[in-house]
Amino acid sequence: MKVELLGSFIDALSMQETENKIAELIERGGGHHVVTLNPEYLYRAQFEPGLLDLVNSADLVTPDGEGIVWACRVALRPVPERVTGIDIMLRLSRRASEEGWRVFLLGASPGVAEDAARGLEQRFPGLQVAGTYHGYFKDDEEEEVLETIKKACPHIIFAALGAPRQENWINRYLEQLNCLAMGVGGSFDVLAGKVPRAPFWIQRVKVEWLYRMVQEPSRCKRVAVLPRFAWLVLKNYRLKT
Ligand code: UDP
Repeated sequence: MKVELLGSFIDALSMQETENKIAELIERGGGHHVVTLNPEYLYRAQFEPGLLDLVNSADLVTPDGEGIVWACRVALRPVPERVTGIDIMLRLSRRASEEGWRVFLLGASPGVAEDAARGLEQRFPGLQVAGTYHGYFKDDEEEEVLETIKKACPHIIFAALGAPRQENWINRYLEQLNCLAMGVGGSFDVLAGKVPRAPFWIQRVKVEWLYRMVQEPSRCKRVAVLPRFAWLVLKNYRLKT
């Protein structure tokens, strides 16, 4: 079931149900796009309708971010839980190691995707990482990136190019790549050990965004959007007469 929030259609699935749904899409074959939607993206999409179209043309949209889960609750269209890109990436990597699916890691600074891949291979023995490519390629490198991925013939592409670049990129090339592709934001930096993930208790008390801001002060500008997002939600779903 999908729930509508500020013009975006979000899958109301638990983490386990999301993993199962993605596994089904992979088994079915063909191109599939999974979007992990956060409040910053959804707020920006209010002013750039093209971003909303990207979300609504995806096969699966997960509520990545406590802000989205909260907003769905306020709008009386609740989703079961937060389903983050990194958690789904870990679950799919475990499943890939069991099922023999090949994964490709595209994105982050040079060297980071390789480190993240090594970490995943250690954690999930048998995982086949079909290839990696950094996320700072120029327009004239695009062809090389595509050829590298096509040769690797992955079942899953994890794209960590930042939003909305990763969503735009996946949408543009999905047909050619003919596999499941999913935007995972800053996940490679965490998996490579460049940025620590918030301890579990911080995730539990729902302030991972605050922890990330302290770790990476450059995120301040992004976090500043959150009160505006909250106001928009309240205005649309609670203060309307
Ligand atoms: N990135 C990239 N290419 C770009 C811009 C960003 O590969 O042109 C990477 C960046 O190095 C980082 C990730 O994309 O690893 C973006 O992380 P961010 O924290 O913005 O994502 P979030 O997890 O908040 O969605």
